[in-house]
Amino acid sequence: MSITTVPAYAAPAPKAPLERTTVPRRPVGEHDVLIEIKYAGICHSDIHQVNEDWGTAPFPMVPGHEIAGIVAEVGPGVTRYAVGDRVGVGCFVDSCRTCDNCRAGLQQYCAVGMSATYPVGSDGQPAYGGYSSHLVVDENYALRIPEGIGLAEAAPLLCAGITLYSPLKHWQAGPGKKVAIVGLGGLGHMGVKIAAALGAEVTVLSQSLRKKEDSLRLGAADHRATSDSATFAELAGSFDLVVSTVSAVLPFDDYLGLLKTDGTLVNVGAPADPISLNLFSVIGGRRSLAGSMIGGIPETQEMLDFCAEHGLGAEVEVIPAERINEAFARVLAGDVRYRFVIDAGTI
Ligand code: NAP
Ligand code: ZN
Repeated sequence: MSITTVPAYAAPAPKAPLERTTVPRRPVGEHDVLIEIKYAGICHSDIHQVNEDWGTAPFPMVPGHEIAGIVAEVGPGVTRYAVGDRVGVGCFVDSCRTCDNCRAGLQQYCAVGMSATYPVGSDGQPAYGGYSSHLVVDENYALRIPEGIGLAEAAPLLCAGITLYSPLKHWQAGPGKKVAIVGLGGLGHMGVKIAAALGAEVTVLSQSLRKKEDSLRLGAADHRATSDSATFAELAGSFDLVVSTVSAVLPFDDYLGLLKTDGTLVNVGAPADPISLNLFSVIGGRRSLAGSMIGGIPETQEMLDFCAEHGLGAEVEVIPAERINEAFARVLAGDVRYRFVIDAGTI
């Protein structure tokens, strides 16, 4: 039997506290799977979206794009999954499937635009995310969560994990490479784990020394405070790759100065405001400033398999749904180690 109305937590208006409601889900189609959501991670992007940091959006808004659960029903044409399988869904649930990027497995860069998990689908209609009990998704946009990663620890991999794995692989973090991860939050802590597992020498650049012990435990070789200007002088010209996960605007000239010749600073943080840049920061040392957005379906599966093989999952604080608003406030206050995950059974 197909479920068509499901419980969810939604923000009724921009910046408003989330509250319990119900939202529609489409009937299970030929190639769809119905997922019983077990856990949904709270990404800083969820907060940006509810606050309309990135522009106007439809409300009520059900956030959530770090989804882990169990297949509860399959459509008649489904071949990849069976009832009972452990699956995940990330930031998108469809794409055009025919453009060069989709054919190359880079669905996140679909030429006509990926169909986001929320807040708006490719049909222009509101779409409801993972702070909910169930989700219907095309089987080609669900990922297999390997045995060996708990579902709560796996949920944040669907955004935080892949957002760091993709640039770390693309810019070849590995043995002999010095990598800095800026910001030890949800994304950053996965960056440290993955970069270390890839064999790179990792330094965490954090606002303070408060999280130093955690950095070292997660696999970093060093942890420096960016509030101390000596850090930028001492580490000048040190890194092959710097990945910034910071949700606010940074003084990028200072961070570009940390790169070796030909080094790259990849920014994945998504603050609303534009940055300023002195172009001599990239002219000198032939340095690059780049960006990167989540990852495609094949690479997300590769990341999940890599994490299972290396025993990696997110460090999570599992919360009941009634604590979502408190969790949002704590993320904004930098008080999370290192990802809140909603127990969807409490929604
Ligand atoms: P988060 O858990 O809040 O972590 C962000 C970290 O940045 C904080 O823990 C803090 O680390 C540092 N930070 C925060 N404010 C800062 C400031 N004013 N100056 C310097 N450092 C600051 O957030 P998240 O969920 O990891 O997301 C981070 C950003 O990435 C958000 O903007 C999100 O929208 C974006 N994002 C992008 C993608 C993509 O595909 N590109 C995907 C997901 C998320 P320390 O305490 O260590 O300083
Ligand atoms: Zn996210």
